[in-house]
Amino acid sequence: RIVYVNGDYLPEAEAKVSVFDRGFLMADGVYEVTSVLDGKLVDFEGHAKRLERSLGELDIVSPVTTDELLSIHRELVKRNDLTEGGVYLQITRGAPADRDFAFPDPETTPSTIVLFTQVKNLADAPAARTGISVISIEDRRWARRDIKTVQLLYPSMGKMMAKAAGADDAWMVEDGLVTEGTSNNAYIVKGGKIITRQLSNDILHGITRAAVLRLAKEAQMEVEERGFSVEEAREADEAFVTSATTFVQSVVKIDEATIGEGTPGRIALRLREIYIDESRKKAI
Ligand code: PLP
Repeated sequence: RIVYVNGDYLPEAEAKVSVFDRGFLMADGVYEVTSVLDGKLVDFEGHAKRLERSLGELDIVSPVTTDELLSIHRELVKRNDLTEGGVYLQITRGAPADRDFAFPDPETTPSTIVLFTQVKNLADAPAARTGISVISIEDRRWARRDIKTVQLLYPSMGKMMAKAAGADDAWMVEDGLVTEGTSNNAYIVKGGKIITRQLSNDILHGITRAAVLRLAKEAQMEVEERGFSVEEAREADEAFVTSATTFVQSVVKIDEATIGEGTPGRIALRLREIYIDESRKKAI
């Protein structure tokens, strides 16, 4: 693989960052994952905007402009012959001369930027056909989940808890209501209505979420943005998750309960189809 690091395109084995990098020492950094379909970027603009917001909330200076970012994404897709998968991007507060809790001066410590591609079967992912199972776990992340930081230890632990329980993923619960999945936004469908938690600092403002809710409304589907409990999910007709790399993926089991018929539901499948169609058309 050819990866990008601080201005250079290099074979992955030659790409290096400092041991003092604050991303490595303190999880002081943010990231984005933009999916690639037919060799083109899906909703690059949405990801670039959220990146800017994440950086702003943490006072990290971007080392590149949005135009440069687009060129780097495209160049990596080209150099790696990527037709389907994703581009991972990470920006950290850089590598000061020594480890210190206080932020370094951005004038003397430039941010670190790294991008690499990942090959993945997205549109035809087997899990989309069968649906996935989730377990519910307590949400023990910090209180600014709207910022897409590289602080992913708890979601990783959640994935491992799911694996240990024989499930595919975990839905996190706070004060009796589902926040989101370990790396996706969570939805249920009841009586034709799509229900998903409202935006706040409690969840990541998914780029796929925004597109899917817009498409649902355009298709005259009813949408309600509010929290829902695990009990409500157990009794729902359908459930699903959204993210840049899974698009819309049905959830057919939560803890021990089968949701609906235990197979992907009609509304989730329809949304997946509409989302993929539109993404292929609008990708750049
Ligand atoms: N929620 C969390 C916690 C995530 O990590 C992600 C994606 O990584 C999402 C939601 C979905 O966001 P997006 O649709 O922008 O990929």
